[in-house]
Amino acid sequence: MFNKMTLRDYVLKGKKVLLRVDYNVPLNSNLKITNDRRIRESIPTIQYLLDQQAQIIICSHLGRPEGKVMPEFSLAPVAERLRELIKKPVILTNDVADTDTFKFVRSMKDGDIVMMENLRFDPGEESNDPDFVRRLASVGEIYCDDAFGAMHREHASVVGVAKVMPSCVGLLAEKELKTFDKILNDPAKPFVVLVGGSKVKDKIDLIDNLLDKADTIMIGGAMAYTFLRAKGYNLGKSLVEKDKIPMAKQILEKAEKLGTRFLLPVDHVATTEFSFAAESMVVSTDKFPRSLMGLDIGPKTLAIYKRFVSRAKTVFWNGPMGVFEFQKFAKGTNEIAKAMAKSPYMTIVGGGDTISAVEGLELQDKIKFISTGGGASLRLMEGKSLPGVEAVQDKFD
Ligand code: AMP
Repeated sequence: MFNKMTLRDYVLKGKKVLLRVDYNVPLNSNLKITNDRRIRESIPTIQYLLDQQAQIIICSHLGRPEGKVMPEFSLAPVAERLRELIKKPVILTNDVADTDTFKFVRSMKDGDIVMMENLRFDPGEESNDPDFVRRLASVGEIYCDDAFGAMHREHASVVGVAKVMPSCVGLLAEKELKTFDKILNDPAKPFVVLVGGSKVKDKIDLIDNLLDKADTIMIGGAMAYTFLRAKGYNLGKSLVEKDKIPMAKQILEKAEKLGTRFLLPVDHVATTEFSFAAESMVVSTDKFPRSLMGLDIGPKTLAIYKRFVSRAKTVFWNGPMGVFEFQKFAKGTNEIAKAMAKSPYMTIVGGGDTISAVEGLELQDKIKFISTGGGASLRLMEGKSLPGVEAVQDKFD
C-alpha cells in the first residue's frame, strides 16, 4: 500500500531532507520533558537518514503558541534530548524557515542535523499559507512526513509542502499506517474492541465503523451510561448524555442486525459524589440506586471483559474504563491494561488517557503497539483518510 512513498524509494545521499516529526511532547513547569516517547520513536527514521548520509532538517510543532514566538514553547528541550539520544550535534535555529535557518542549512554537510524552531511560531503553519509553504519547501529537496500524530491536520508542514516537493512518509508513520491498515482490513480474529472514556460523541464514529469488523465491542467509562440508558436502565446520577441516546440506540440496533457482540457493564463501582475520597460500593446495572453515580466498571464486568481480551487475537483499546485518575476508580482501567500486557497476540492502544494509564503501570513495553497519534489514529479507526497521507499519496496515483 505504501510501497511508492517511503524513504526507501529515494536516493538520499547528499540530499537535504525536510523531516516533519511530531515532537509535541509534554513539558512540566520547569520546561523539562516528562515523556520523551515521541522523540525516541523518531530515532529509526533519523538513523536511517544518517546511514544514507542525508542532510537532515527537522521540523515540528510544540503546544499552541498560535502563530507567536513564545519562549515557553521553544523546541530547545527537545533538541537537547535528541542530542542525548542520538549522540550527535543538533543545531537549533532561532527561526522557522527564515534567515537563521537558511544560514545553517546552506552550510550543511552529509550527516548533519539542523532543527528549526517551533513551526507554530509562524501563523502560516496552521493556516497553510502559500508563502509559508514556499519558504518551508525551499529549505529541503525531499520532504519526509514522519509526524503520524499530526497527519490529520491540514497544516503547511503536513499537506502544504507535501504537494510541492518530492515526498514520502517516514518509518514511524509507515509503521503506524500499516498497523491500522491491518487491523481495519485484515485483523486476526477474534477481533475485540474496547472503548471507554467520557463522551459518546467522540467515539461514536469509531464504534460505527468497527461494528462490521469486530467480533466483540465492549464499552466502559462514562459513555457506557448513555448506552445503558438507551436500553432503558436507570443509572442514578451517572453521566448520561441525553441528546446522544438516539445515536446510542441506532448503534445497538445495528450491532444486533450485524450479529456483533456488544457488551455493556453489568456492574459498577459507584459513589455519592465525584471525589477521590468518596465512599464506594459495587452495584449492578439492573439495581442502580438513584443516589449514586458509577465511576468504574464493577468486578463482574471486569472478569467478562478480561476473558474476551485474553481470548482475542487482536484487541484495540481506546479510552479508560473509569475515573482512573482517582485510585478508588482505577481498577477497571488498570486491570484491563494488565490483561492486554499478558496477551501474546496483537494488542493496540490509542488515546492519551489510555496510554497514560498503561505507562503509569510501566506496561508500555508489553503492549504490541502504542500509537503516537491520538487524533490521527481515531480518524483512521473511524474509516476516514488522513490529509497528510493523501497529500503524499496523490503524487503517485
Ligand atoms: P475521554 O477524554 O473521552 O477519553 O475520557 C477520559 C475521561 O473520562 C477520564 O478523565 C476519566 O476520568 C473520565 N471517565 C471515565 N469513566 C467515567 C465515569 N464513569 N464517570 C465520569 N467520568 C469518567
